[in-house]
Amino acid sequence: MTPLSFYPGPSRVYSRVPEYVLEAYSGGIMSINHRSKRFRKMVGELREVLFDRQGIPSDYSVIFTSSATECWEIIAQSLTRNESQHFFNGAFGAKWHAWASRLTNAKAVSFDMEDTLPVHRLSDSADVVCLTQNETSNGSQVSREFIATVRSKTDALIAVDAVSSMGGLAFDYSQADVWFASVQKCFGLPAGMGLMVLSPRAVARAEELADRERYNSLLVHLDNWSKNEAPYTPNVLGLYLLLRSQKNAKPIVEIEKKLVNRHADWVEYLSRFADMTVLPVKEELRSTTVLAVTCPDPKTILSRGNDLGIHFGKGYGPWQETTFRIANFPAIKRKEIDKAQKFLRSFC
Ligand SMILES: *Cc1c(COP(=O)(O)O)cnc(C)c1O
Repeated sequence: MTPLSFYPGPSRVYSRVPEYVLEAYSGGIMSINHRSKRFRKMVGELREVLFDRQGIPSDYSVIFTSSATECWEIIAQSLTRNESQHFFNGAFGAKWHAWASRLTNAKAVSFDMEDTLPVHRLSDSADVVCLTQNETSNGSQVSREFIATVRSKTDALIAVDAVSSMGGLAFDYSQADVWFASVQKCFGLPAGMGLMVLSPRAVARAEELADRERYNSLLVHLDNWSKNEAPYTPNVLGLYLLLRSQKNAKPIVEIEKKLVNRHADWVEYLSRFADMTVLPVKEELRSTTVLAVTCPDPKTILSRGNDLGIHFGKGYGPWQETTFRIANFPAIKRKEIDKAQKFLRSFC
């Protein structure tokens, strides 16, 4: 039996991925040149399908990178004038701040995962505000409505790490300037590629700062991707898999609805365990796509699950010893959730 993965990244890939890979091989896609007409046609089509399925405004731009970590660095090197301000309550937001600090003046505002993001601490001197929409490490999220609140309180560019939610949630992309993800989470694809969605304001900022010094400077990326080309030989198979899987994807509003229902089902299911708690305790702060569950002995659940080919996520960072995580990503099938719940019943 193929192992069941509830790991929140790299995660379960869509079942049709093997078919798309075979198709890419037999159609010669794996060997095409990234300056060829065929490549340009593929990227053009990918942009069209992606914008349609995810509801991205047509005046936004997209670039494809090697990872989300690279996107963190691009924001620091190519979009930050003087200062970025980072709001975070978990390990990924902290890591973003740490990487940005090496390149720019990055200020940190950490907050408790049981609190809403402290908008009253928005700084006038920051020209990029960075927030982690879905904190994969602890299962918390910043809601759509809250991103709109941040928008109404600052003129700075807003950059949103949506790495473990883009492809699963319907965002109002107009409420922020930079959105990025990598494909091994909600997009249900093998790892090895990131994408960054940019507002016209973000593109204007890149032009103002005119950074072209690095192979991955944002303007170097934009010059190429706007012509459906790439600054270096890119992950052509990754681009193809994203195109094929997005073509086959339901509209994002429907995907989100499915995930919201499944999340409610998981929470209801887990409520029968006296010693398990879904974090954050405050429901409205909980991530839709990643459940972090505290329990007395996560190690046993993880190792017994592994023995049976049912893989949950380890706790992450400070939550390593006290939690395990369950991905609620679109590629996971209902019958797989049933199997996982049946397995967990033995711990009741
Ligand atoms: C996985 C993850 C990242 C890092 O993604 P890479 O593709 O490994 O660079 C960043 N932020 C969040 C919230 C994540 O879940």
